[in-house]
Amino acid sequence: MKLDVEILRYLSKDDFRVLTAVEMGMRNHEIVPAELIDRIASLKHGGTYKVLKNLLKHKLLHHDSSKYDGFRLTYLGYDFLAIKTLANRGVIASVGRKLGTGKESDIYEVAAEDGTVFAMKLHRLGRVSFRAVKSKRDYLRHRSSFNWLYLSRLAALKEFAFMKALEENGFPVPKAVDCNRHCVIMSLVQGYPLVQVKELQNPETVFETILGIIVRFAEHGLIHCDFNEFNIMIDDEENVTVIDFPQMVSVSHRNAQMYFDRDAECIFKFFRKRFNLSFQENTDDNDGSDVDTDEVVWPSFSSISKTAGFLDKELAASGFTRKDQEDIDKFIEEGVEDTGSDREETEDEQFTESRESNIKGLNSLRVEEQLSSIASSERLVVDIALSVGTEKQ
Ligand code: ADP
Ligand code: MG
Repeated sequence: MKLDVEILRYLSKDDFRVLTAVEMGMRNHEIVPAELIDRIASLKHGGTYKVLKNLLKHKLLHHDSSKYDGFRLTYLGYDFLAIKTLANRGVIASVGRKLGTGKESDIYEVAAEDGTVFAMKLHRLGRVSFRAVKSKRDYLRHRSSFNWLYLSRLAALKEFAFMKALEENGFPVPKAVDCNRHCVIMSLVQGYPLVQVKELQNPETVFETILGIIVRFAEHGLIHCDFNEFNIMIDDEENVTVIDFPQMVSVSHRNAQMYFDRDAECIFKFFRKRFNLSFQENTDDNDGSDVDTDEVVWPSFSSISKTAGFLDKELAASGFTRKDQEDIDKFIEEGVEDTGSDREETEDEQFTESRESNIKGLNSLRVEEQLSSIASSERLVVDIALSVGTEKQ
């Protein structure tokens, strides 16, 4: 999907007010009735339907009239709400080229007013694993908010919280700058994913550094769970930066040993294949305890001393709650069973089922609060400094 932020220039305060109204309606409706959008937005001079048409034209909304006349946000619509909020906060002022498409995200270069360049990760949880979501309808049915908006927001919040905590504990990770909805702003890593690196001056040193990070994660009570050549960045000085944290788990997880070994195995395998490093095999009788050479051995999960409570203490303080953790873990674990590509699945197929529920919970004071936070400028300050228009996707 192309993130054509040029459109942002032409969206008015009313456009954003209506877009926000749809977002709010989606808390308890997959498809928000047009009439409800009109009520939430309560535009001073009316005209909600005209605005809806404009938002539809720009693909910020999707129209669904299969059961009743209603709308839902598209990824693009959700992106715009997050970008607009971050722009209003003064965190970013321009969106540039795409840096990467991950399994469950799109990453763009963005810049602040003073020219500082950051990376912006837009989470798309539910894109790849949507089949898993569908197969778990029973579970999801009991949680009306369990849709991609919720999951993507949770993934962003988790990533932001973990990145911050890891950085504060001296791990080589990007600096977490800000977070809104499904969007995380972080420092730009100068370097390339390890998968693209064909040659290293000191492969042994890099290998040991990376393995050391896995062990240090565990000492701090954490396992990365997707620790591989796609999520490790290397710069020209062969410094290592680890990225991508939404799937991290605690060492107290029931499958911790398996996740830990899997992370380690990815690294051993990759270095063996790409850089011809040779290692002692991971066998049952090799727990690293009787090493008499300086040859690298498989790190032993059980003999790592873990600092209890790292997750609880530091992450609870960040706003990422235990309930959030449980919700996202459940989704991610279910998604693991389904690694087939769902990329062909279009957004339109994602919401085939509409869910009605009452809207009594909509507190008008909170509606106003939310709206005022995005309505502070008539026109968005996002400036298209870089080459968004020429990007192909
Ligand atoms: P996913 O969770 O979808 O796998 P990642 O966080 O791994 O997303 O990011 C996908 C790609 O985007 C990475 O492989 C990398 O090339 C690029 N990327 C991610 N974060 C940064 C960053 N902070 N600086 C530079 N490039 C990044
Ligand atoms: Mg990744």
